[in-house]
Amino acid sequence: MRILIIEDEPGIALFLKEGLQEESFAVDVAREGIEGLEMARVNEGEYDLLLIDWMLPGLSGIEIARQIRKDGSQVPIIFLTAKDTVQDTVFALEMGANDYMKKPFAFDELLARIRVQLRTKAGETSQLSHRDLMMDLNTHQVFVQEEEVMLTPKEFALLEFILRNKGKVCTRTRIIEHVWDIHFDYNTSVIDVYINALRKKIDKGSGESLITTIRGVGYIIKEK
Ligand code: CA
Repeated sequence: MRILIIEDEPGIALFLKEGLQEESFAVDVAREGIEGLEMARVNEGEYDLLLIDWMLPGLSGIEIARQIRKDGSQVPIIFLTAKDTVQDTVFALEMGANDYMKKPFAFDELLARIRVQLRTKAGETSQLSHRDLMMDLNTHQVFVQEEEVMLTPKEFALLEFILRNKGKVCTRTRIIEHVWDIHFDYNTSVIDVYINALRKKIDKGSGESLITTIRGVGYIIKEK
């Protein structure tokens, strides 16, 4: 899952970026309004959620949300703001925000709200499973045959993405777009390295790998 943060306060931006990366999200940061809108537009469809500060140099968060909705994008938007009057909240929601966090906020609460938005978007529960594998997106645990398997944040993100798209081929390009951030150098062989590491952990001698390689294209977890 890839998130764009548009936030001009460097401390908050870094805190959010690091916190979300630890939770396996790929994170891009824009420090200014016009740049933020540009990034959201250029990478349209690649971001699974936008976290936007209200007060920004260049272009306000409200204006960014308005433009993005005008473009027809339905990407979930959560506002971060010091404003907290009822009118401001209503205004933010009318301008296309899905939710609203008042600063200062607890990271855990923000994370919970992000997960709600992503669940709503995907229309699913907090658990993903396939055969004898189960991922708990809230506790960040993965179980194979009811035994916990320890994954790195990137391995977790990769497995989550492929599993969310069960039955569909995940092309290398789509995997990069959703699991890695904007600074990734597009050397797609890195994906193979991660897939191999992941297989070693989740395929417990069952012979057949959970993740099937579609040669030259990408990877799939088949429905059956
Ligand atoms: Ca600000």
